Amino acid sequence: MGVSEAILAIENLTVSFDGFKALNQLNFSMAVGELRVIIGPNGAGKTTFLDVITGKVKPTEGRVLFKGKNLRSFSEDQIARMGIGRKFQTPRIYLNLTPQENLELACNRRKQVFATLFSYSPQAERRTVTGLLETVGLAAKAKIQAGLLSHGEKQWLEIGMLVAQSPDLLLVDEPVAGLTDEETERTGELLQALAESHSIIVIEHDMEFVRQIARQVTVLHEGTVLCEGTIDQVQSDPRVIEVYLGQ
Ligand code: ADP
Repeated sequence: MGVSEAILAIENLTVSFDGFKALNQLNFSMAVGELRVIIGPNGAGKTTFLDVITGKVKPTEGRVLFKGKNLRSFSEDQIARMGIGRKFQTPRIYLNLTPQENLELACNRRKQVFATLFSYSPQAERRTVTGLLETVGLAAKAKIQAGLLSHGEKQWLEIGMLVAQSPDLLLVDEPVAGLTDEETERTGELLQALAESHSIIVIEHDMEFVRQIARQVTVLHEGTVLCEGTIDQVQSDPRVIEVYLGQ
């Protein structure tokens, strides 16, 4: 794949912490509109991988290209504004506000960023919030306190808040940890619906869930890509079996 077709291209990426290579000569590429799942045992480098993409950690060696642009000289804030949104495991929502108010805040943040570029319309914003509430399945709970939502509903609300900022690339860290089976399935449906208009990277341990959402899986081990393929291909790869058995 040429760099121009890739939303994200990572070349020979090494990240050292006091000489320890958390990422080691890692190469990775994904196309615009792809939903990619990253798996790998504890310590494989998954969190560091996301930290580098968001600019929290800078490469020791190598390059991270987002839409063809080297991210090295940009701050975390600038990278977020360039179109990369990250969802952490613990939802970062305002529990004392309603889902609607949370989403209004998220839309406002975007509005501030674009205020100088586009004219602002309150009607358009209300439509956006209503659409987001429907997308994340919270229209019926738009006006209750977010603190009263289930764990799964809080996760969906935070995904909605990220989407409100119109990212091109969504990074989602273990979205179904602690969710019920039904919530897990609905999370998969939500991510698949979002994948129609976003590129998405999901880090996940739950293999049933990976099977539900992923066409292409990347396995990380010791800071580098061990293999890539469909879930069936990677699960039957002897190198992957060895790495997971060795845990
Ligand atoms: P994963 O998310 O796959 O469990 P991480 O990216 O958190 O893996 O960590 C990869 C390796 O890098 C681990 O061995 C971890 O201890 C080490 N590491 C991560 N961050 C730091 C840091 N800030 N300082 C030193 N070592 C780190």
